[in-house]
Amino acid sequence: MFDYIVVGAGIVGLATAYHLKRLDPNASILVVDKESGPGAGDTGRSAAAFRVFFTGRLNMLLAGSSVEFYRHVQEDEGYDLGMMWVGYLFLLDEDGLRRVEDGLREAERMGLPFRRLDPRVVEERMGLRARVTGLEEAELIDAGDVVDAVLVEKAGIMDPERLVRYYYEKLQSMGVEFAFDTKVEGFIVEPRKPLGIEGEPFAWQEARVAGVRVAGGKELRARRKVIAALGAWSPLLLDEIGVDSYSRPKKRQVFVIRADGERARVLRAQGLNRYGIAPMTILPKGVYMRPEPGEGTFWVGVSDYLGRPYKLEEPPHPEEDFYTLSVLPVLSLYFPQFQDAYPQAAWAGHYDISFDSQPIVYEPYDSDLIVAAGTSGSGIMKADAIGRVAASLALGLDEAELYGGESIPVKWLGIEGRLLEEEKLVI
Ligand SMILES: Cc1cc2nc3c(=O)[nH]c(=O)nc-3n(C[C@H](O)[C@H](O)[C@H](O)COP(=O)(O)OP(=O)(O)OC[C@H]3O[C@@H](n4cnc5c(N)ncnc54)[C@H](O)[C@@H]3O)c2cc1C
Repeated sequence: MFDYIVVGAGIVGLATAYHLKRLDPNASILVVDKESGPGAGDTGRSAAAFRVFFTGRLNMLLAGSSVEFYRHVQEDEGYDLGMMWVGYLFLLDEDGLRRVEDGLREAERMGLPFRRLDPRVVEERMGLRARVTGLEEAELIDAGDVVDAVLVEKAGIMDPERLVRYYYEKLQSMGVEFAFDTKVEGFIVEPRKPLGIEGEPFAWQEARVAGVRVAGGKELRARRKVIAALGAWSPLLLDEIGVDSYSRPKKRQVFVIRADGERARVLRAQGLNRYGIAPMTILPKGVYMRPEPGEGTFWVGVSDYLGRPYKLEEPPHPEEDFYTLSVLPVLSLYFPQFQDAYPQAAWAGHYDISFDSQPIVYEPYDSDLIVAAGTSGSGIMKADAIGRVAASLALGLDEAELYGGESIPVKWLGIEGRLLEEEKLVI
């Protein structure tokens, strides 16, 4: 019996447990995961890029406060999270520019810092091929010239494993318990006032989630709340008890390309940030190149939308065809240095996608179950704030105080009272 049970030791579960313990130091907390250590789900498969450059208030608050917290951890606490402020570089063709023009105007109005670069500067410093009109490959994939480049400096990359280790070590030192290699098979749903009749709870009984059933028939019970921080696995367990995570898994793949030969110059691009490293670069049609300077590689990928299923693949496999047919044609068009590049490694995971791309944190039916899901591909950069909201909700608070002191209503991430707004900087 514990006060709280957190199911899932990904970044959301860890941040939630951390803030729960910080706000309620006497509480007993157990974190359960089916894997043999923390962060072994999608957190460990993340590209872990971050940006504080959105027009939506919620995006700015969640990512802004979390990234500031990580900066504090790295710079003030001296715990290296591998954060590098390499920036985000958006390379825009006419189409892309039209889509973000409004957003850029809004960003200017909000005072968000960014620089517009002449694509020729990116050609010179990174080896971009901005002019592709007339090339057969460009016509084939219907790609246009890069006509604008937007460099966002309050953005970069970090090491998700170090972030995991930070929370994990803190939690251990605070006395939070962990049960690894412990697969949850279901949630225990019980009446608040049990009558001892078989088949309870009946429809007329007030019910609660009292804990979890794990492999081997064992039960782990929570006096106060159970927090489901299951990421892409959320629907698998929550559907069974009639709870909606309002999110669904979609496969995402990362391919690792060695930055040798001509690509070394791309990686070591000078004059775009203080490190002399290529920024996280987003090409037209969404293909991204994420520098990994420590390994001397690029991680490349693209998010696809229409056509592929929402589906949990276990374990998810990277597909060679996806690289050669969906990533490489765009990548090698704008950066011919990648023409003959073949991945030396690859992996796949899932985005846990919600209906509005914002996290979902709510307590359905006053059930003592808190759902913390739907991070939609930005869970690393928002995790600290999500953890604060989930912990505040578990404690029955209406507001969550984010790092830096600003408070937000917890219902903004819920279903009733959710803050729905348009994000104009979806690039
Ligand atoms: C390829 C890729 C690239 C990404 N890039 C970025 C990026 O650049 N920036 C960014 O901010 N975010 C990025 N993300 C998203 C980010 O990684 C996720 O939003 C975040 O890791 C989600 O954390 P989580 O704790 O919700 O899920 P997870 O880390 O998946 O944690 C869920 C945990 O639940 C456990 N679990 C599941 N079922 C059970 C069960 N039955 N019993 C016990 N335990 C169970 C799992 O083992 C897992 O540890 C990326 C994701 C992917 C896949």
